[in-house]
Amino acid sequence: MKLKLDGWKLGIGFSACHFLPGHDKCNRLHGHNYTIHIHLTGEVDDSGMVYDFVKLKKAMKVVADELDHCILMPGKSDKVTIIVENYQVNVTALDKKYSFPECDVTILDLDKISAEKLAEYTLEKIIGQLELGSKITKIKVGIDEGIGQGAWASRDL
Ligand SMILES: [Zn+2]
Repeated sequence: MKLKLDGWKLGIGFSACHFLPGHDKCNRLHGHNYTIHIHLTGEVDDSGMVYDFVKLKKAMKVVADELDHCILMPGKSDKVTIIVENYQVNVTALDKKYSFPECDVTILDLDKISAEKLAEYTLEKIIGQLELGSKITKIKVGIDEGIGQGAWASRDL
């Protein structure tokens, strides 16, 4: 049995800013309205459910709230240098320099802030919040950057 949670229909998403250094167009700082989806595969348990929808939505919201209205920076990029100093985040990306208030920036442990990498990040964050018992066999997490394009990461359990 598969559960599907659609972040667009549930209103679970986040608005955030990112860039992809070296990309023709996406090297410029820009934003997306992202949403989070979950597909969960498993057996129906004695309660008649595969998993509690409330708990799944709560886990999605935790990640959405963490990333919402943030400038997302890749903390592990070899093209981006990030120095945090006096509550200011100074970023050098190839030949560009930026400076942001620290409270506006979330530095993620990723080498790129792409939909693909955000899907992997979100998958880990969601798995970390759930107690997925032996009856759950697979979880897939999708991140859409706008309607119609997104990336999915999955884990067999
Ligand atoms: Zn983008």
